[in-house]
Amino acid sequence: MPKSNKYTYLNELERSQQLDRINTMESGGHDSGNDDRNRRRERERQRREEERRRHVAMLRIVLVTALAAVAVLIFIVTGGIFGGKNTGGGGMKPIADTTPTPAEAAREVTTAPTPVPDAPTEAPTPTPTPTPEPVLAYWEYVSEEPMPMGDIVSVTSDLYTYEQMCRDLNFLRERYSDKVQVYRIGRTADGRDLLDAVIGSESAEKDVIVQYSMHAREYINTPLAMRQLEEFLKGWDSQSYSGKLYGTLVENVRLHILPMANPDGVSISQSGFDAIRNESMRQKLNEIWQYDLSIDHGSSDYETYYRRWKANGRGVDLNRNFDQNWETTGGTPWYSSAGFRGEWAASENETQAIVRLADAVNCVGEIAYHSMGQVIYWDYGTTGELHARDEKLATVVERLTGYALNSTIDTGQNSSGCSDYFILVRKVPAITIETGKETCPVPFEQWPDLWERNRYVLPALAELFAGF
Ligand SMILES: [Zn+2]
Repeated sequence: MPKSNKYTYLNELERSQQLDRINTMESGGHDSGNDDRNRRRERERQRREEERRRHVAMLRIVLVTALAAVAVLIFIVTGGIFGGKNTGGGGMKPIADTTPTPAEAAREVTTAPTPVPDAPTEAPTPTPTPTPEPVLAYWEYVSEEPMPMGDIVSVTSDLYTYEQMCRDLNFLRERYSDKVQVYRIGRTADGRDLLDAVIGSESAEKDVIVQYSMHAREYINTPLAMRQLEEFLKGWDSQSYSGKLYGTLVENVRLHILPMANPDGVSISQSGFDAIRNESMRQKLNEIWQYDLSIDHGSSDYETYYRRWKANGRGVDLNRNFDQNWETTGGTPWYSSAGFRGEWAASENETQAIVRLADAVNCVGEIAYHSMGQVIYWDYGTTGELHARDEKLATVVERLTGYALNSTIDTGQNSSGCSDYFILVRKVPAITIETGKETCPVPFEQWPDLWERNRYVLPALAELFAGF
């Protein structure tokens, strides 16, 4: 017995053709013989011919159906229907991100014949659905260098750069991976990362923000932040403050260390306008210099001018850009190396990053490191409990550093600064610590003294805020 219709058909066909040949020979051999027999044979031939045609037609249907099934299978397996991301068009049911495996696709076909949708006449317009970046974003950093055996943060000159900070932060998070995380909280106009090194328990209920180098030329405070951070991590299980191990101090308080709040500006103050990679920003910087010269603001000597740069890479003074008393803040009326408050409150990426961070965590305090003057600005005109806590904070830092206390309200320093914003708008204790004396950038000779005065500030802050 033939095993398939195809073979049945071929055998039938052969038999039919053989019969035809016999008929032809017979009709040729018996000239006008028996007419009835010939007619019967003719009818038999026609019947077989009809049968053959039916078989051919059926075979065609079988072949076409098989081809169509194969085409649908290929379409599905190559992702024609479910492939990749849902474009949002065509009302197709979105199926997770995963493309089905060939086995799954085949099962789909055998169990439920999938109707092939009409090809869209034009490509559906993808609907952009921007996912907002997390405030504390994972910080990508690739390093080829080997980690130093001893201390990671090495301060051998006052020019501690943004690149050096990134490298050291990366080493610190590698060496102390269970104690410190580094997050990107924003990005500057020239594409530098605004970084937040977080120490403290994940279950801690309070967050304190400590930020450094918001004014470009005050960059001596960045290596200070980095050394403070490394000392804290090194002493985690061995050093104590006020009778408590460092690691214990941050069980209920997280410290957010922002070692360089203004990396574009710091890069300008350390290396000049060439440090800015964006061509149009560099052009703008030259225009700013011309403008500053026209209002007699800053030096006509290029090196002196950029060394004294205070603003961010766009010419906005970040410590006048916060949304507190911003409307009445004075200073230079336009983009400048120092003193311009910006075109609107919190116009700058750097300002927004700090505000967003404070919104995202339970911020209970803020400390701003600036230079110079060796003073602590506190007393922003608050009263009651907030004033008492701010005084406590200022006094603790005064005792450690030996810096003098200065009333912000009495000295008329109140402006749209970062600490003004935190204490007056967010109602949390805030102070500004001014390190260094006489000039900025702070000469490197002052580094040892600056470090000794400030080395225990982080454990002191953790201890104080844990008790508040
Ligand atoms: Zn400053």
